[in-house]
Amino acid sequence: MLFILMCRMKSLLFSSPTLLTISCHPTKTMPSLSFQIPRTLSDKFPIIQNPNFLGLKAFSSFNPSISTSVECPGSRMEGPRFSYGEIHIILGPMFAGKTTSLLRRIQTESNNGRSVAIIKSNKDTRYGLEYTVTHDGAKFPCWALADLSSFRQKYGVNAYEKLDVIGIDEAQFFGDLYDFCRKAADHDGKTVIVAGLDGDYLRRSFGSVLNIIPLADSVTKLTARCELCGKRAFFTLRKTKDTPTELIGGADVYMPVCRQHYVNGQLAIEATRILESQRIQCDSYLEASSPPS
Ligand SMILES: [Zn+2]
Repeated sequence: MLFILMCRMKSLLFSSPTLLTISCHPTKTMPSLSFQIPRTLSDKFPIIQNPNFLGLKAFSSFNPSISTSVECPGSRMEGPRFSYGEIHIILGPMFAGKTTSLLRRIQTESNNGRSVAIIKSNKDTRYGLEYTVTHDGAKFPCWALADLSSFRQKYGVNAYEKLDVIGIDEAQFFGDLYDFCRKAADHDGKTVIVAGLDGDYLRRSFGSVLNIIPLADSVTKLTARCELCGKRAFFTLRKTKDTPTELIGGADVYMPVCRQHYVNGQLAIEATRILESQRIQCDSYLEASSPPS
């Protein structure tokens, strides 16, 4: 008789998914299991009011000191004082005012009593390594580093813990930008403000800047003024024939341009490059074919 009863119970429990509902809620306090037993069934089989019947244990019966260490996706257990960080990205071509906007935001945060620091790439030595400097001369003390992962150690672990806001200038030069920003905002509670070029001189994605857009709270694309017509400029035209992606330079090498003048400028530069290469070939031919004097 007991065997028949157990078989009927198993059949009722596992043949219909509506009879037993188990849900895990990833809340800030702890995950929870809830059981919804139809009254008629629980009346019929009072033994299943005890969840241990199924080899499961309701979390409420756990030792709280154990259950609070459980981490569900989307939840943190650091306590009520922890606050998450933010990531804000400032994009645009050269001469769009990205560094100016970064410094303005950092200055505002500092004025509000928050602890701030700026990091820039040590590849950009145009204005020295001590300061981040805008094209119009404004400047702010900074850390010039080869990579972002070394910042915490170099800044000091204790000092880093107290830091509220981190600015990153010329972000396209940092290969570890994604990992740094994610950790700083998600785990360390920092506000990270990133300024960098979205595209290189060929309008291809530059470095990791675009990769962090999915992490960001906000993205701002700034524009400059086209140097040739004064319209809004979205792109950076390299004026020289050099081809490396990373070529540090200012107005002597680059200029902001609108779409029309970017396309025309690229065509003109390409035409010049072809003409020059043909001239060099021609000169070489003449040198090789001229009789020795
Ligand atoms: Zn133009």
